Amino acid sequence: MPEPEYVWLPREQFLHFEELSVLVDVFLTLGVDKVRLTGGEPLLRRDLPELVALLATKPGLRELALTTNGVLLEDFAEPLFSAGLHRVSVSLDTLRRERFVALTRRDDLERVRGGICAAQRAGRARGAGPLKLDCVVIRGTNDDEIAALLEYGREVGAEVRFIEYMDVGGATRWSMARVVSRGEILERIEARYGRIEPVPETSSAPAERFALKDGTTFGIIASTTAPFCSSCDRSRLTADGLWYGCLYARNGTDLREPLRKGAAPAELSALVAQTWRSRADRGAEERLRLAAPERARLLVAPTELRTDPHLEMHTRGG
Ligand code: SF4
Repeated sequence: MPEPEYVWLPREQFLHFEELSVLVDVFLTLGVDKVRLTGGEPLLRRDLPELVALLATKPGLRELALTTNGVLLEDFAEPLFSAGLHRVSVSLDTLRRERFVALTRRDDLERVRGGICAAQRAGRARGAGPLKLDCVVIRGTNDDEIAALLEYGREVGAEVRFIEYMDVGGATRWSMARVVSRGEILERIEARYGRIEPVPETSSAPAERFALKDGTTFGIIASTTAPFCSSCDRSRLTADGLWYGCLYARNGTDLREPLRKGAAPAELSALVAQTWRSRADRGAEERLRLAAPERARLLVAPTELRTDPHLEMHTRGG
């Protein structure tokens, strides 16, 4: 959760589902083939299955995925998969109730676990892609739960992805000392479970995948110590229509305004294509090159976060 004095994006500025559908069409015609609905928390839009149904059958869409905190997933899993959702990732950083409350400011761990099981059942019944659990590893917060999370993933039939803690906007307590690197995560898992084999990955997914001797697979996203900006092909659209080329980007391109002023799909395509061609985002790599004192400075000050929620990562799916 963000700092307590968080400013919400004004709801009346959110794109309607039909507008999102038009924009997804624009991106699909330009070659995008994978869409992820994320947040913030996408299940707060109670009629989300309607959006899934609108998007799922679009020609050219190879994958429609959802990332959620899992709190409302128990009720939504069945309608979402019935509407055509292809796969779900659940953010889960701890299995300990008191830590969960401290991290999320909600006592909902059991609801999340219920949601994970419901998603597993509903997804399996419809041949959906494997469930993933995303865990940001933070030293002194949850880094003693790497094995427990791995085993929980195995128990519920989900693949855990350990994500290095990033110094993005809104990470107001970040420090390099709290980052548990890819190398350290692997060392710890190897020390406990023995030899780890890399699993060849052909997709553009950011996670490197590995397997334990018993076949359990897991992923690591080394976004802080080994960023993958040079091969990053992702972009992000906020709920109110700002389009960002990078998690770290200060400015986005407003797609809502031209859309609402009646721009034709071809005009929106031209705007997106032209902006993408000039994209030079390398946010995480640039942060990595900074000297330690500079890096220790927050990317975005809390005062700025309070005045512009777009600078918070969860408004752009981070
Ligand atoms: S920091 Fe930006 S450019 Fe680099 S991988 Fe992340 S989103 Fe892509």
